Amino acid sequence: MNIENLVRKNILKLKPYTSARESHLNGILLDANENSLGSVVEFDELKLNRYPDPNQNAIRESLSKLISIPKENLFFGVGSDEIIELLVKIFCNPREDEAIVCEPTYGMYKVCCDINDIEVKNVPLDSNFDIDLISAKNSVTEKTKIVFLCSPNNPTGNLLSKEKIFELTNSVNSIVVVDEAYIDFANDDGLIKEAIQIPNLVVTRTFSKAWGLAGIRCGYAVANEVIIKLLFKVKSPYNINKLTSNFILKALNNKSKHDLFVNEIISERKRIENELKNISLVINVLPSDSNFISFKVEKPKEVFSFLESKGIIIRDRSNQFNFSGYLRVSIGTKEENDEFLKQLKNFKG
Ligand code: PMP
Repeated sequence: MNIENLVRKNILKLKPYTSARESHLNGILLDANENSLGSVVEFDELKLNRYPDPNQNAIRESLSKLISIPKENLFFGVGSDEIIELLVKIFCNPREDEAIVCEPTYGMYKVCCDINDIEVKNVPLDSNFDIDLISAKNSVTEKTKIVFLCSPNNPTGNLLSKEKIFELTNSVNSIVVVDEAYIDFANDDGLIKEAIQIPNLVVTRTFSKAWGLAGIRCGYAVANEVIIKLLFKVKSPYNINKLTSNFILKALNNKSKHDLFVNEIISERKRIENELKNISLVINVLPSDSNFISFKVEKPKEVFSFLESKGIIIRDRSNQFNFSGYLRVSIGTKEENDEFLKQLKNFKG
């Protein structure tokens, strides 16, 4: 498959932003209209008066070592949300092209398409919240540029079948994005190894969940080099700032803390899953491969408001297409989880 045939014509002509800094890292730096005197607020030795590296070299190298994926196949975004937005920008012509979203799923795919005036075709997930291959394939037209998948899926919590994903990448002439924001909580390697081989597969991941770094806004994409180069063409010149890069480097050197978080969250997830099953107002608990659990109740709005009145904020997903009656709760600390369960048991409907 020639990916360039899927790219918007104006994007193909673009050149990535270049700065004079690439070949001159030291010296008298009078090329970028910075403040040579220093910065009003200093942070470590980061020289915050100077722009960050537009090529994201240090963090790409460090991540490359940790996940054994070549640096050339990695791209960092301001959250994985930025990568989703950039992919829509690269592949979808406004008012012409289409994208496929499999509901119920993460809302940003549709939001990005709506902002860019891209028609979204909704292919409901099947009764196990897996891909409905026949409907998905039937919904693809020659205008379909991106199929968005989320595995483990938010808000259903489950991994999608890899066989079905490969069936799609093989049979459709569009980009297949697999959002693996929650993969760290699943007992599964995900699809990053495949993403560097399969020309139309892009995997996105994030530091916002298992790494506990939602506040620094950082995610990454793994894909073949053609797609990575396209992402570099359309990103803003210095999308990853020095503070974020610095924290990412520190985080990548502390993978054991990530692993501790993941183990504790998974163990709490199992406990909450079991406890929810024993609460009479809970009709169904979805098994989860992520750091949240969705559960079905008779009166979701009332349960949500009751918990809210007790200072416990969960997510009401009961209005979402194909997900009527479901609430979603993130796994918190043991104490937070205890309080959630205690108050849920107190609900008198
Ligand atoms: N993908 C999914 C499935 C999510 O649920 C979220 C956040 N809730 C994101 C991506 C956003 O991740 P980031 O913070 O990296 O933008």
